[in-house]
Amino acid sequence: MDENTQLKTKEDVSHEKGGNKTMKRREFIGKSAFGLFTTGFGIPLLKAKPVQENTSYKLIYRTLGRTKLRIPIVSFGVMNTDSPDLLKLALDRGITHLDTAHVYLRGNSERVIGEVVEKEGARDKVLIATKMAFAKDRETGRFSEKGSERSPTATPENLNNQLELSLKRLRTDYVDILYLHNCDTPEMVQYEPMMKAFEKIKKEGKARFIGVSFHTNEPNNIRAAVDAKIWDVLLTTYNFAQEHREDVKKAIQYAAENGVGVIAMKTQGGRRLQERGEIEVNHKAALKWVLEDENVCTTIPGMTTFDQLDMNMSVMNDLALSKTEAQELNAAANLKGKLFCQNCKACIDTCPNRVEIPDLMRSYMYVKGYGNYIQARDTIAELPDKHGLNTCLSCSSCTASCRTGINISSRINTLLEERLYLG
Ligand code: SF4
Ligand code: SF4
Repeated sequence: MDENTQLKTKEDVSHEKGGNKTMKRREFIGKSAFGLFTTGFGIPLLKAKPVQENTSYKLIYRTLGRTKLRIPIVSFGVMNTDSPDLLKLALDRGITHLDTAHVYLRGNSERVIGEVVEKEGARDKVLIATKMAFAKDRETGRFSEKGSERSPTATPENLNNQLELSLKRLRTDYVDILYLHNCDTPEMVQYEPMMKAFEKIKKEGKARFIGVSFHTNEPNNIRAAVDAKIWDVLLTTYNFAQEHREDVKKAIQYAAENGVGVIAMKTQGGRRLQERGEIEVNHKAALKWVLEDENVCTTIPGMTTFDQLDMNMSVMNDLALSKTEAQELNAAANLKGKLFCQNCKACIDTCPNRVEIPDLMRSYMYVKGYGNYIQARDTIAELPDKHGLNTCLSCSSCTASCRTGINISSRINTLLEERLYLG
């Protein structure tokens, strides 16, 4: 397929997507609620608040670096839902880029994308991105030679096996973007055996473009991705609450200047709107904050409800961050201990057992921010035996501390109360 076939006829801004649906709203909510209530994969039942009738959105497109793909600035991170109805509505409304990973919802994220895209006959209109993660040695910041079923060793053979299974689930013979997922360090970003294997897959046509993703150490990893010269796209954490957001911004600019497409994730700091007992983040403002940086092509907020889809897409109707919104974000970003774990790893040294606390804080975010117990459980299951949540189970009192004021002990207690330890 010609790499520019998709989306190239669309204009930068088009109007009235989603305003003229064949399925009536009431019918849709009914069907969608059924979809959600039957997920069966541990995602809590989500209340589908009726969304506005006759909703219409602008679609604003940007170009994804040298791939030349034109993508709406709001895409769909399909990490927390396996609702076909929600995906279908997103596609109906003009979203064209679906982001998943081999491990999301234990394969059910890829499966539902495959089903919906095939049923809608939309393969040539939808950009599918998936990601492949491999075992890490957390001490050295390199890939580990010891793998497991869920987190295999980083070898070309394991990459190909994962990709074959992903393609089968996605009901396609190629993906649009294939990522080397969750790299912690420049060494992982530039790990030669993987770079060669990804290039081979691209040459074979199983991935149109290749990329790399990271949740930590973003400025260094972004620069390493650009300097590696082979990655077409990078997927990075980027939000208003990152302490080093100005460094991330500069690194993103470096990527854009060098033709590497930038996609932002964790754009809203991983918080569900109106989470009780915690600060309420203005999620619309948070998304606007990221999109004010025009070097970011698109964002992949994780969505589980129709009103989240509405809220995220409505950002395109009014992209400018107001003074009040900027003030709200500043206040939220400066509130220590309430928000986003920076994944700086400083707390690990404060635990006598060197538990992988940042991953536990990420698991807490999956539970409390997204309601995604599967992702939390799987993240915890990947941790080394002596440095995971089970170690906390037998620890009499938590002495670990966070330099930004997160109450580590309380969050670990929540994970324990939710019985997310192993065994
Ligand atoms: S819990 Fe605090 S110290 Fe630990 S990684 Fe997160 S922000 Fe850093
Ligand atoms: S509960 Fe104990 S083992 Fe767990 S993080 Fe706190 S100090 Fe470390």
